[in-house]
Amino acid sequence: MERVVDIALAPREAADASLVREAAAEAAGLALPQVVTSRIQKRSIDARSKHPLVRLRVLVSDEERPEEVPAVDLPDVHDATPVVIVGCGPAGLFAALRLIEQGLRPILLERGKDVRARRRDLAAINREHVVDPDSNYCFGEGGAGTYSDGKLYTRSHKRGDIAGVLRTFVHFGASPDILVDAHPHIGTNKLPHIITAMREAIQAAGGEVHFGARVDDLLIEADRIRGVRTADGRSFAADAVVLATGHSARDIFELLHAKGIHIERKDFALGVRIEHPQAIVDAAMYHCAVRDPYLPPASYSLVQQVDGLGVYSFCMCPGGIIAPCATAPGEVVTNGWSPSKRNNPFANSGIVVGLSAKELANGPQGDHPLASMWYQRDVEQLAWKAGGQRQSAPAQRLVDFIEGRASKDLPACSYQPGIVPATLDAVLPREVAGRLRGGLKAFGGKIRGYRTNEAVLVAVESRTSSPVRIPRDRESLEHMGIAGLYPCGEGAGHAGGIVSAAMDGQRVADRIAVRQASR
Ligand SMILES: Cc1cc2nc3c(=O)[nH]c(=O)nc-3n(C[C@H](O)[C@H](O)[C@H](O)COP(=O)(O)OP(=O)(O)OC[C@H]3O[C@@H](n4cnc5c(N)ncnc54)[C@H](O)[C@@H]3O)c2cc1C
Repeated sequence: MERVVDIALAPREAADASLVREAAAEAAGLALPQVVTSRIQKRSIDARSKHPLVRLRVLVSDEERPEEVPAVDLPDVHDATPVVIVGCGPAGLFAALRLIEQGLRPILLERGKDVRARRRDLAAINREHVVDPDSNYCFGEGGAGTYSDGKLYTRSHKRGDIAGVLRTFVHFGASPDILVDAHPHIGTNKLPHIITAMREAIQAAGGEVHFGARVDDLLIEADRIRGVRTADGRSFAADAVVLATGHSARDIFELLHAKGIHIERKDFALGVRIEHPQAIVDAAMYHCAVRDPYLPPASYSLVQQVDGLGVYSFCMCPGGIIAPCATAPGEVVTNGWSPSKRNNPFANSGIVVGLSAKELANGPQGDHPLASMWYQRDVEQLAWKAGGQRQSAPAQRLVDFIEGRASKDLPACSYQPGIVPATLDAVLPREVAGRLRGGLKAFGGKIRGYRTNEAVLVAVESRTSSPVRIPRDRESLEHMGIAGLYPCGEGAGHAGGIVSAAMDGQRVADRIAVRQASR
């Protein structure tokens, strides 16, 4: 007999397999000795009441039910038709894996370095304030995903097989916990090994991966793609090219525009990172003085309409670090990550204002397709100047910002290049600063202890999504002007986050396979 039961346990009980088994047996109406298999299928934390509970969905059976190990079977594609993929982020990697499954041979071109070599360049940003425009937190093997937080939660349920993406991550080394957690999280310390394992599997099957291969031209004949050229003068021929270069590849957007390839400016969001001591967030979310050690560091999700636009929290990282994510010298950009244990003493989150491309078109940049990108770049350059022309970030205490006074000093902060006191009204555009202030005031009323001068705002959080869309046909997913060109992932404006970028890579690969089969 097999049953699936829902139970709710105290955090300490939920961490004890024998207590879970007992509770599940009781809920299933089985005597404990009858239970041969007890396996958690879903896990979430319910912190609505004074005593938080862990909700579990458990499969109980009186027979052995062996756990399925997720498998990715890749055929040999050494002699198959090549498909060029530009960009080795989640979109490019998952497109490559799916192309192999479909019997095609991916040739991945990546401007940055492999995971290991990339680490030295990240250290140079943090310690020496030097940004390599080809190797940084966003560029290199695994793209922005490698040194990201690795939260694998997405709302894009209609866009593909989320569980399939998660199983692929597990196959390449992620903890099987991500298959059951309501808010799966891998952690920055684990991602590099997983990305390396994916690349090795692609190469073993016959795919190619070229690092230090920055694509600087598309080879086009009579509105049909024929391949690409890299900055070092190499050409790679293919009838299908997947353009998965992420939201920070400004040179690619400029190239497309210069070649007369249709692109559009897009809505995006901009604001700051906010950092609180984790203990304040834990106390508020778990209604306690000190967090139960069996509960994970708490997170939050906030949203408020201010003057007709949304102000919202973005990519919340409990127990995390604020990261310097500039992709060129002369700009400051922040984002956040956390290790798998989320055991740093700070909680950070983006707090951003949604900006409409329509509204921006009334500004000095006008309605040029690159207008949103220029707006974003200008703010990042202002942040660099306000930070002392280094990777140090301009910062202000939360209450000081809300009340419009300068911070005399700043609290300890996880941002490794350092923060410097600044008036953020002088860094952020007026329409952003005003709404941010309104949003933060409102958030102070939603989470107890949130409005405190122990919290610091660090500018700027500007790469929440792409400022440009590369349009494509809804069915074929090809660019509408250039046959065989497949804009893909976050940079093309068709995904946001790791899982949705990965699913977009899979969808594009599937369409290429259909087109190939019909030839
Ligand atoms: C610090 C940080 C934390 C994050 N945390 C999360 C999180 O917890 N959860 C989540 O879902 N998302 C998170 N993200 C966002 C996530 O990483 C991105 O949404 C995702 O990586 C987008 O995938 P992509 O493949 O579309 O693009 P990218 O990952 O940006 O990959 C694009 C790749 O293209 C390469 N490239 C660019 N131009 C060229 C060129 N001309 N030639 C060759 N190669 C080129 C780049 O080097 C890069 O490797 C985080 C991002 C950062 C920076």
